[in-house]
Amino acid sequence: MDCIFCKIIKGEIPYDKVGETDKFLAFLDIRPLAVGHVLVIPKEHFRWIWDVPYVGEYFEYVAKVANAQKKALGLDMVKSIVVGDEVHHAHVHLVPYESSGKARGFDFTRFAEVSKQEKDEVLKKIRDSINL
Ligand SMILES: [Zn+2]
Repeated sequence: MDCIFCKIIKGEIPYDKVGETDKFLAFLDIRPLAVGHVLVIPKEHFRWIWDVPYVGEYFEYVAKVANAQKKALGLDMVKSIVVGDEVHHAHVHLVPYESSGKARGFDFTRFAEVSKQEKDEVLKKIRDSINL
């Protein structure tokens, strides 16, 4: 099966891990809409999030990651987006939102430019916050 997220889970593609459990993985989106944009996926392949039989547990983990992002980045909220067309493996987007209005909304064609240094800093902050 040619699923990019399954390849990430198997370690066949490099990625920036934010956190994980035995069932779920959180990592930085390679095409971020904002600095610190995270994807949370189940490690088992499901086409849609509503196919995940333990969707309650899934969303508890999504909430944990979102709250860690808020805390780590000092933000009011994290936009939570479920679309599902881009990659055919269940995933939830968590996009840090600045209430200043600088956020880019839901336009998936406009990506944020994030330097390696910015990426490394945000990754460390969120990882540290999840592990508290
Ligand atoms: Zn998959």
